[in-house]
Amino acid sequence: MQNAEFNCRVAIIGVRNSEEWFRLMCGGGKCMKGVSREHGELWCAGCENPVMFPQARFGFHIL
Ligand SMILES: [Zn+2]
Repeated sequence: MQNAEFNCRVAIIGVRNSEEWFRLMCGGGKCMKGVSREHGELWCAGCENPVMFPQARFGFHIL
C-alpha cells in the first residue's frame, strides 16, 4: 500500500461571466434560482430583486 500525496496548484487566468462551471444561486429563502447579471449587478428573476449574497455553486471540470 502506497500513500500518495498530491499538491494541486490552480491558477485562474480568467473568468468569463458565461462560464458554466461557475453558477450563482439566489439562496434567498427557498429560492434556488440561478442569478443573472443585469446592469453589472446580480439579479434574481424569481425574487425580482438584486442578489446581495449569492451562493456559489462550483462545478469544476478538471482537464
Ligand atoms: Zn431568488
